[in-house]
Amino acid sequence: VFQHVPLAPEIPVYAVMAACSKDPSPLKVNLGMGVYRTEEGKPVMLNVVREAEQQLVNDLSAIKEYLPITGIAEYNQLSAKLTFGADSSAIKEDRVTTVQCLSGSGSLRIGADFLARHHHNHTIYISEPTYRNHPNFFLIAGFEVKYYRYYDPKTCGLDFQGLLEDLGSASSGSVVLLQACGHNPTGVDPTLQQWEQIRQLMRSRELLPFFDCAYQGFVSGNLDVDAQSVRLFVADGGECLAAQSYSKIMGVYGERVGALHLVCKTADLASKVEGQLKLVIRPMYSNPPIHGASIVAAILKDRDLYNQWTIELKAMVDRITSIRRQLFSVLYCRGTPGDWTHIMKQVGMFTLSGLNAEQVAFMTKDYHIYMSSDGRINMAGLSAKTVPYVADAIHAAVTR
Ligand code: PMP
Repeated sequence: VFQHVPLAPEIPVYAVMAACSKDPSPLKVNLGMGVYRTEEGKPVMLNVVREAEQQLVNDLSAIKEYLPITGIAEYNQLSAKLTFGADSSAIKEDRVTTVQCLSGSGSLRIGADFLARHHHNHTIYISEPTYRNHPNFFLIAGFEVKYYRYYDPKTCGLDFQGLLEDLGSASSGSVVLLQACGHNPTGVDPTLQQWEQIRQLMRSRELLPFFDCAYQGFVSGNLDVDAQSVRLFVADGGECLAAQSYSKIMGVYGERVGALHLVCKTADLASKVEGQLKLVIRPMYSNPPIHGASIVAAILKDRDLYNQWTIELKAMVDRITSIRRQLFSVLYCRGTPGDWTHIMKQVGMFTLSGLNAEQVAFMTKDYHIYMSSDGRINMAGLSAKTVPYVADAIHAAVTR
């Protein structure tokens, strides 16, 4: 029956990871997949997550029944507050519908399917470049995917003019996917003033904002500061969607904890939207898992745990900032050709290094350094120990 099934293409980021794990070299460095590593190169486990899990151990082993389709109600409320702010008028006016989803990916997928059923315009604009999985969520839901200019390789910064021109010519009602902060893969975010200009343009052209919030807190270390882009759009009373993920910011990647928020014009619409979201979710996976969301809710609702979390989050951000400084200074001191200041200027987990596919292949072959072929470096995969070695490899790659 399955003879006709064609060989599927490899998924690049997983192929890089598989190649790295097969490599027996003790020198190997994995800068591919976007996961945080400690200074010792180990996967992260936040103390606060461990502590919350221990506190919950009795509850978690006692309750294994199904959750409602929309997930844990308290978790949803706490997640909405984290995204939109505790004093958000949209929340106070019951205009926000939140459903617990399988992390950021699941939230994007449910959001895309909902829009395919209930939004009149099936065109989505996505930044060029973007997180590689982004187009997939929308293509599978039947959207036409178009791109807006975002990154200027000449400045390694934002192509703001290009972005405004492209969104300015989008048809009314088009959906626009925006990364709230810590843009993957470029590490380039608009300033708050630029966000305001984007907001004005989008509202005047009736474009629907869909925020991807996978890195709230991962840029500045401050959860409110990193949510400013989203909150700007909510403060004007208009609609928007937001896909939230706890994978990176709490280091709960495999627990698949996230939420989809829809901000509506009225409480009545928010409640209708919730009903329709249930119809999207029910035939897909029926209801979400308990474990990870219970841990996240426990952290969000307890002042001590919350404070402990923000301290650990800030420590992750500080380590990445320090790595940026270290990599830049080694390249600078060595006189490696090129302007590497963007390593310092870019924010969040990633740097789009400017290395091309050929240079990346050389670094993999000769130095056992693994990263995506577009030159994206997961800065959190580096440490004080590996920075000089990786800088050697970059130097060799660009001076070949
Ligand atoms: N959005 C962005 C921008 C991401 O970088 C990622 C993960 N790399 C995701 C969404 C999805 O991650 P998750 O499903 O673990 O939340």
